[in-house]
Amino acid sequence: MLTSGMETLRKAPEAALLAVCVAFALLAAPVCRAQNAPPPSSMPAAAGPSIMDRLNAMMAGGPSAWTPEQVATMAKLRDAAMKDPYAVNELRHLTDNIGPRLAGGPQAQQAVEYVAAEMRALGAEVTLEKAMVPHWVRGAETGELVAWPGMTPGTKQKIVLTALGGSVATPADGLTAEVVVVDNWDQLRALPPGAVKGKILLFNHPFDKELAAVGNGLMAYVGGVVYRGAGPIAGGAVGAVAVLVRSVGGADYRLPHTGMTEYAPGVEKIPAAAVTAEDADLLADLTAQGPVTMHLTLTPQTLPDAQSYNVIADWKGTEHPEQVVIVSGHLDSWDLGTGAIDDGAGVVVSMQAIHLLKELGIRPRRTVRFIAWMCEEQGSQGAAQYMVDHAGDVANHTGAIETDLGADHPTGIYYAGKPALGGWLRPVAGVLDAIGAPTLNASEDTGEDIDGLTAKGVPSFAPVQDSRFYFNYHHTAADTFDKIDPKHLNENAAVVTVLAYALADAKDAAPR
Ligand SMILES: [Zn+2]
Repeated sequence: MLTSGMETLRKAPEAALLAVCVAFALLAAPVCRAQNAPPPSSMPAAAGPSIMDRLNAMMAGGPSAWTPEQVATMAKLRDAAMKDPYAVNELRHLTDNIGPRLAGGPQAQQAVEYVAAEMRALGAEVTLEKAMVPHWVRGAETGELVAWPGMTPGTKQKIVLTALGGSVATPADGLTAEVVVVDNWDQLRALPPGAVKGKILLFNHPFDKELAAVGNGLMAYVGGVVYRGAGPIAGGAVGAVAVLVRSVGGADYRLPHTGMTEYAPGVEKIPAAAVTAEDADLLADLTAQGPVTMHLTLTPQTLPDAQSYNVIADWKGTEHPEQVVIVSGHLDSWDLGTGAIDDGAGVVVSMQAIHLLKELGIRPRRTVRFIAWMCEEQGSQGAAQYMVDHAGDVANHTGAIETDLGADHPTGIYYAGKPALGGWLRPVAGVLDAIGAPTLNASEDTGEDIDGLTAKGVPSFAPVQDSRFYFNYHHTAADTFDKIDPKHLNENAAVVTVLAYALADAKDAAPR
């Protein structure tokens, strides 16, 4: 959290400004004089960093890692990002034109080729680095109740659901079984032996909407996602014939949320699907009244692993081209929507960083490396391959940024690594204050694809994003281009562009 300087400013701007003017006067800086009177004709007009930028750098306390000229460049990049439609246009193409980008499929490959071509057109050095990825494809997916307490004879009741990624199939004509509902692991453990054998097991763990509503969307997600990930293993271990999980998401529009699930060696692989929150409530209500029988059909297929690629585009540094700062998002998406907020947005704001460095003619000291990661959604195989391919070169990675929490308003930067990073970044936060993104939050995690680098001591970063609404659409058919607010997308582009430049051009690399 950014304290001291900016807080002082907000509470008493007049006094703070006065104090800084006095300090600048002592340093014989012309900029303060310009507040009250035009500069003498012998003095150049104030063209360098704005008073706010210098003020921010100064109020941060201690020497800055960046010169006033570099801080001014950050401000220029920020302002350019706010005006430039490049990111929005790229996202429109990825989502509306190319569509969903399920790993291993033809649209993911098309996206690889498209992004590579766009980066080449900017003059970046583009490499496609191979990675093998799973190739799972969705099939039919239907659920219906065939027997329940109080039913009207001869009727059925539809259950809205979607297969979880990686799920095995039911028989082609489906399976029919009684439904058992538990809210959590403890309730499953408390059932008598054999209670779930031959049945469909529903994990009805609610997404904590109140937690999300106050901005802790990721925490709400983590609370529920363990059941999606491990539910089929737990169900398989107790003899269930299928597992259902309550969708891990917050909206009330009867939307099922897909996502990856897991199997374990030695445990029967059983079909797995997410039901909507509304249908989970329905099943909980009816099973509390008496036996409920459901017919479930899921026909996904797991095809042979496919060769795919991380798209890597280097904007070469001038002094230390071998040292790299990664700016990234993941190019693959789920297949229900078109992957706008997850994670087309993260890819295009990262593309924007390279685009703006080109537009403004900026070559930082170090290389800015754009990466569109492949297959984050189904196990981060692209990122894992990168760690193998670059194992001998981790020391030259001086920073890594990933954006993968949507496209809503950013309020600052998450950083993982040395606590000193917080103080070091204060001048950057000062520049981002103008777009409402001045906070600096220490975090253990910054992004799934850069976790491997973080674990090896590479300072890593992510925008702190408003997560109140992200999980309403996450992994659903409603993750589409219309969910993007261009202003918010540009704010995210500004955060990652300014940060990537700051990391790449600082005289000394970020503390590690
Ligand atoms: Zn994602």
